Amino acid sequence: MSRQILNKNYFSRRNNKKYMGSSQFKAFCECEAAALHSIKTGASEKPTKSMLIGSYVDAYFSGELDDFTITHPEIFTKSGRLLADFEHARYIISRIERDKMFMKYLNGGAQVIKTGTIAGVPFKIKIDSYHDGRAIVDLKIVRDFEPVWAPGKGKINFIEYWGYDIQAAIYQEIEGNKLPFFIAAATKEPEPDIDIFQIPQHVIDVAAEKVHKLAPHFQAVKTGIELPVRCGKCDYCKRTKKIERIRSMDELC
Ligand SMILES: [Zn+2]
Repeated sequence: MSRQILNKNYFSRRNNKKYMGSSQFKAFCECEAAALHSIKTGASEKPTKSMLIGSYVDAYFSGELDDFTITHPEIFTKSGRLLADFEHARYIISRIERDKMFMKYLNGGAQVIKTGTIAGVPFKIKIDSYHDGRAIVDLKIVRDFEPVWAPGKGKINFIEYWGYDIQAAIYQEIEGNKLPFFIAAATKEPEPDIDIFQIPQHVIDVAAEKVHKLAPHFQAVKTGIELPVRCGKCDYCKRTKKIERIRSMDELC
């Protein structure tokens, strides 16, 4: 019998090897070589303080704050008080809790894990708030709701920039009932903004095409059948770079 995926081992090395997930798929889109390296070694980037603020709020609403504070003692001062950034996380939480609609959307099944396949590739998903038969809701704590500059694309909305459309496509297909997908979002601004955004189905459909097209190749890279492509720009590529030819100044622009 195969071992069950639980919250505590959702991101374990074993399960990251066995299943593709939304973050792993997005990592492969960024740089195949770096994604493969992180799966093989289990090494992940150390979370920044800004990422931890989001995780703190996530943990609070999924009832995992106790575990979170044990695994992240760095959120406290030496005298045991919460660092100012996490006091702000508490402020974001209190803002969310004051909104009836936000709380209604967050009130589904918490951290519901499901597995399945897309284009023959095993996938895992973890739904923040699952309203069975009605909706999939993902909680996001973001800098703000302003458009973000993406190289080659110009300014795009934060949902597309962070690949939440890809996440929606993966979640919707693994859940299996084409449920509407919502982002319940709050900002880290001094006065947090809140909103609930639905990702339109036509956007999810385009993202789903991309997932179907690329997942089999990423899986072949994962299993060593195909070689990973190096992006040449990320930290991993820079760290492992070997100079093999002399470049002309003309290549710089
Ligand atoms: Zn790279």
